[in-house]
Amino acid sequence: MLVNKDNINELAWEKMDNLIPAIIQHAATGAVLMQGFMDQASLKATLVSGKATFFSRSKQALWVKGETSGNFLHVKQVLTDCDKDSLLIACTPIGPTCHLGTESCFPEQKLTTQNFLSQLEQVIASRKGDDPKESYTAHLFSRGTTKMAQKVGEEGVEVALAAVAETKEDLLGECADLFYHTLVLLADQKIDLSEVMTVLQDRHNK
Ligand code: AMP
Ligand code: ZN
Ligand code: ZN
Ligand code: ZN
Repeated sequence: MLVNKDNINELAWEKMDNLIPAIIQHAATGAVLMQGFMDQASLKATLVSGKATFFSRSKQALWVKGETSGNFLHVKQVLTDCDKDSLLIACTPIGPTCHLGTESCFPEQKLTTQNFLSQLEQVIASRKGDDPKESYTAHLFSRGTTKMAQKVGEEGVEVALAAVAETKEDLLGECADLFYHTLVLLADQKIDLSEVMTVLQDRHNK
């Protein structure tokens, strides 16, 4: 169930002694970033401010994640589970979520293929406008759309050639090139990978 300001009293507060675990998930990649606890006041604050706010058991007080580090979690969606005793919150993180400096408090988690592509998509987007001497991706952006499109065409041909005349290792490398340059072109065209996935899913569902 989607949680909003009007239905938070439907959660299983009593059963949970007024403290419900909240799993924070990256809105774009689905990666689990951290887990904290929310009481009614912190969930309300989360929904009103759009910033993930917890009840800190050590401080016994409301804690806006990022209040001292600046690493806020911007909330995209709040869900509760079947028996309304836990929360799944999709967020866009500002900086690393873990206070130890990693993106996630579960740094060893393995991203699925699609999650990793989403992560790569984000890194590529963040390179827009960077110094072309510092980053190859920024260099590609600086050369403009035609050159980016050309690169996709070349890599497509290289994939085809590798498949018929080269080793598996060559083919893997060329496929990686093609995926990467396609992501760069999509970022240039301001198209999300999720839009492409929607087209694939719609075809699949037909
Ligand atoms: P912050 O909310 O990022 O400004 O961090 C303030 C304090 O909250 C840190 O010094 C940690 O004690 C704690 N903290 C921050 N992030 C986390 C996290 N992901 N999990 C657990 N504790 C955290
Ligand atoms: Zn449950
Ligand atoms: Zn952590
Ligand atoms: Zn290539």
